Amino acid sequence: MKKCRKSDIVVILCIIIAVAVIFFGCWLKLGKVQTQPVDATVNSSTTETTAAQTTAEEKVSETTTETTTETTTENTTKEESTYAYAYAGFDPVITDTTVPFNRLLVNRDYILPENFELNLSTLSEIGSGEKLDSRVAPYYIKMFNAAKAEGIILTPVSGYRTYDRQKINFENRIAVYQNQGYSKAKATDLAAQVILPPGTSEHNAGLAMDIVSLETSFENTAAFRWLCENAADYGFIMRYPKDKTDITKITYEPWHWRFVGIEMAKDIKSSGKTLEEYLGAYESF
Ligand SMILES: [Zn+2]
Repeated sequence: MKKCRKSDIVVILCIIIAVAVIFFGCWLKLGKVQTQPVDATVNSSTTETTAAQTTAEEKVSETTTETTTETTTENTTKEESTYAYAYAGFDPVITDTTVPFNRLLVNRDYILPENFELNLSTLSEIGSGEKLDSRVAPYYIKMFNAAKAEGIILTPVSGYRTYDRQKINFENRIAVYQNQGYSKAKATDLAAQVILPPGTSEHNAGLAMDIVSLETSFENTAAFRWLCENAADYGFIMRYPKDKTDITKITYEPWHWRFVGIEMAKDIKSSGKTLEEYLGAYESF
């Protein structure tokens, strides 16, 4: 029994070894065969991924280029249209000139377009030849005559001003502050508080008249009191009131009267609003 068992064990071991060798051989062979295609698959797959990545990168690159180009274009456009006084923080948008002319908003944030056209009338009978928009001039003359009948002379001091005249006035004022030692930017900012930069003044639109005097003391005159009482009846408003300088962004100017039409002038007068507030433009500042 012992011999029999021993030989059986030897046979079984031989069989196991033989099977093991065969399996090992097959495994090796299969391994080689399989390894190459797997690698190839991985490689090709990698290549595809790389290709895909490259394509994606190219796309990203293209997109980036496009974006950059667009941004550059925008910047270029912005730079081309940059206002001459941008160095002092001025960045006015072009005002909407399609509104009825009496509602036209012109201030340091809303500039007239370069091609702004207007018809002017000269106040030849009164003052020294000041001009206003031809639709406004008849109202001024009517107001002038009404005041005159009450012994008040509303001398027109400064009506329509050209862009170039406004520019000269503005730059003269900048020079005054620069001579006082202020930097160019600070001098420009200070100048803008007393005279608006070119293109941003209602005088450039022919819609406003400076009356009698350019001194704050004008508020103590009978002419000023008459205007406060009656100007709205002729379509004019005091544009830069004393208590609204934070909104108008310009000093109190009792002499500057803007035409907005009789109905609107009365509304504005009774509401105590500025034109910016009345037109709902204040929030966008
Ligand atoms: Zn004025």
